[in-house]
Amino acid sequence: MPLSEFELIDRCFSDLGATRKDVTLGVGDDCALLRVPPGQELAVTVDTLVEGVHFLPDVDPESLGHKVLAVNLSDLAAMGATPAWITLALTLPAPDLEWTRAFARGLGSLAERHLVRLVGGDTTRGPRSITLQAHGFVPEGMALRRDGARPGDLVFVTGTLGDAGLGLRCLTRGYDAGADRDYLVGRLERPEPRVDAGRVLAGVASGAIDISDGLLSDLGHVVKASGVGAEIHLDRLPLSGGVQHCVDETGDWNLPLASGDDYELCLVIPPERAEQARALARSSGVGISGIGRIVPGSGIVVLDARGEPLATDDRGFDHFRE
Ligand code: ADP
Ligand code: MG
Repeated sequence: MPLSEFELIDRCFSDLGATRKDVTLGVGDDCALLRVPPGQELAVTVDTLVEGVHFLPDVDPESLGHKVLAVNLSDLAAMGATPAWITLALTLPAPDLEWTRAFARGLGSLAERHLVRLVGGDTTRGPRSITLQAHGFVPEGMALRRDGARPGDLVFVTGTLGDAGLGLRCLTRGYDAGADRDYLVGRLERPEPRVDAGRVLAGVASGAIDISDGLLSDLGHVVKASGVGAEIHLDRLPLSGGVQHCVDETGDWNLPLASGDDYELCLVIPPERAEQARALARSSGVGISGIGRIVPGSGIVVLDARGEPLATDDRGFDHFRE
């Protein structure tokens, strides 16, 4: 006997993530009832992953459960928000208990680590697709917005750039990364959202964005929204050993500049707060690297090791995009 929709929800989603005192009513009624703490704003974000578009049919469901939450937590991190609750709309071709349990395991373990509770959702039949909405809190007026960059601010990124892009090359183009392969593929399949870094830098940075589409594209959103430009230095981009090796061999800077899925944060920080920000980020468990600065004007100029601009045509850096 195939499982009913209700049995599937009951077995996989009725008790997922951390228990929280601010959930009056979770999964099981027509709505969840939730309490936002006084003095906090509610930050809300949603992402959809569609089979064949965002993931392959044979993807490991546990990794997929991790990733769909990670991308949403990364959006909250980029606002400086602390995650609290998620809702999940799941469309499945069949009520496959084994697949759904593995998916729920990946989702649930990341949710528990970030003290997040699944409070509701919807389950329907159709081509596989996953929509996850995440809710978090940020103290009133402290959110890290894209329009906060000012000339003179320094541009920082957390962690290292290009790892997920190189992980994808390992999987789809047979790139041989040697001993770095597992690390790189892990960065693609199990990204760690920079939630703690975002939270401690709220109110310190002037703005932030998460790097989901590549540094140039995402920093491009910041400079556009803020009405400014940016200069970044190639030789300051933080690279892992594997990406450094690939760039040294090929001279191709696409990976750190334009490949997506790293889910690091790109932050703009006034120079007088840079040291404080470095210390706060370190205390949150991740380093930040200064890669350039915000300037008057528009667009992004990439400078090589001699300080010469790399490419300056009107199309910006579209030709870096993979
Ligand atoms: P309704 O008909 O009121 O929309 P549903 O039958 O869709 O209710 O869902 C029953 C309960 O199960 C609701 O509380 C809903 O939030 C929850 N729910 C349904 N699907 C999911 C899911 N994939 N994850 C978490 N909760 C779910
Ligand atoms: Mg429903």
